[in-house]
Amino acid sequence: MNRRRFFLRTGVLLVLTAAMCSVFFHSLWELQVVHGPEYRARSAMAGSTIVSLAAARGRIVDRNGTVLVSDRLCSNIVVDEDVATEEALLTLTNLCRARGVTYTENSRVFARDVDTDLIAALRELDLPGVSLTTETVRQYHTACAAHLLGRVGPVSGEEWPDYRARGYAFSERVGKDGAELAFESVLRGIPGAELVNADGSVARILSPPVPGSTVALTIDLPLQEAAEAALADFIAAAPGAGGGAAVVIEVGTGDILAAASWPSYDLSRFAADYETLAADPLHPLFHRAFQGLYAPGSTFKPVTAVAALGEGVITPDTRIRDTGVFTAYRDYQPACWLYRQSRTTHGLLNVSEALTVSCNVFFYTLGYQLGIDLLDYYAGQFGLGQPTGAELPEAAGAVAGPELSSRLGKTWFEGSTLAAAIGQSDHQFTPLQLACYTATLAGGGRRYQAHLLRAVLSYDGSETVSVFSPFLTGDLSLAPETLAAVRDGMQGVTEPGGAAYPYFRDFPIPVAAKTGSAQVSGNRDSNAVFICFAPSQAPEIAVAIVVEKGGGGASLAGAARAILDCYFRNYTEN
Ligand SMILES: [Zn+2]
Repeated sequence: MNRRRFFLRTGVLLVLTAAMCSVFFHSLWELQVVHGPEYRARSAMAGSTIVSLAAARGRIVDRNGTVLVSDRLCSNIVVDEDVATEEALLTLTNLCRARGVTYTENSRVFARDVDTDLIAALRELDLPGVSLTTETVRQYHTACAAHLLGRVGPVSGEEWPDYRARGYAFSERVGKDGAELAFESVLRGIPGAELVNADGSVARILSPPVPGSTVALTIDLPLQEAAEAALADFIAAAPGAGGGAAVVIEVGTGDILAAASWPSYDLSRFAADYETLAADPLHPLFHRAFQGLYAPGSTFKPVTAVAALGEGVITPDTRIRDTGVFTAYRDYQPACWLYRQSRTTHGLLNVSEALTVSCNVFFYTLGYQLGIDLLDYYAGQFGLGQPTGAELPEAAGAVAGPELSSRLGKTWFEGSTLAAAIGQSDHQFTPLQLACYTATLAGGGRRYQAHLLRAVLSYDGSETVSVFSPFLTGDLSLAPETLAAVRDGMQGVTEPGGAAYPYFRDFPIPVAAKTGSAQVSGNRDSNAVFICFAPSQAPEIAVAIVVEKGGGGASLAGAARAILDCYFRNYTEN
């Protein structure tokens, strides 16, 4: 609802912007105007022609105004086969070949986006039937965030009825995926028209083109770069690891500060690389951060802890003894990981201590006492297993339980609750959901819609058209002692004795974290999962990282540390 209201408001403001834009239209004239035979429409009056004027597409900038994507004019070589001589075509082909320019013979557009050297050479030769036209193409100012930014391209036959109804010309280029598609209505400029005399001179401007608005994303480019590098470095050093994702959310706003998916791809080379990308077994085109579904493993244990504290099953001081094996059921007796590893136990623990050491038997006991319905209720309150509301396509995921089991054609046993309580079973969450859940926990239960759109700006970025305000989608209203117990337990993970301590020993800011690893069905390798928020007492950001076949979650602490290093270096004044 919030987003709809936002776009309505944006629409009204866009009309105002359009009026303002016509004032500085003349300064943009050189940049915007695209004359070309392909735009020539039928003759309006004897000897004159209506020519469409392409409008610039809005830019995409990060939260600090750093330009990520903009329009650029490029020159194409066009051949009129009725006029071009064989000799002219041979000269043209040789020129392109010598310069390594890709060209398409027997096509009206012979070569696209040619360089100034070739343009100069062609002007000098003045080959019959060979001319130059200009068009705008997207220019990428970063090699990062390919899945988030997305591409533009020509309208497809499938899309055409919808775009036609919205007043588009078939020659327009439109957003295909990512932010380019999600914010198409904001980014699109409105083409203009002019009347051209038979001699090529402009008789009059019928309507000036209006450039699209600039979209400011919530993304912070340096943090996005750090997240992508941390993920790539981890995966390069982990033999057998598959793809992965890392998402950073701002606590208290739902701003997506970074969302990295690995492997990624180069937007500027998409067409050239497409076949290789499509054939890659790691599926680089797949947006893992928003659409990859993973079991959370032990990173789910804070949900179980909050549920048990919230329902009065335990207090922060309640101690439960880990006896190594959970024996309440006669025919299903799962063991703690420590017991399986070394035949020892964690002994008597409160909830904070159990979170720090990730004791399975402690959380089996809580799951047993809560039951699956309450567990799933709390998971839902954290936004797990449901869309976060972000503007790009995302997978919904699912929480484990009788309902999901029957949908999957499986049998749900009472004992299945134990596995669900420690994040195994059929839970399937996206990295984005895990980051939102962590941010919700860090914020005391206040859950915000995750979003990528920070503001809509005028084309040149000088005026703010509208700003997205944080939208609260739920509030668990965690009791301060509940939050403190869970936070202390998670902070223990990065303190001496904690699994992530080696990575955080010299980090000046307290970090609350939880590691997880989740068995992939039918596979010996487990996915590594890591969540954290910092500073633990007054959280600003929440991070979730998942690496397929990445082993234990603790090893991901190094990647999380690299992301936190970047954030606190840029945002904290000593
Ligand atoms: Zn244990």
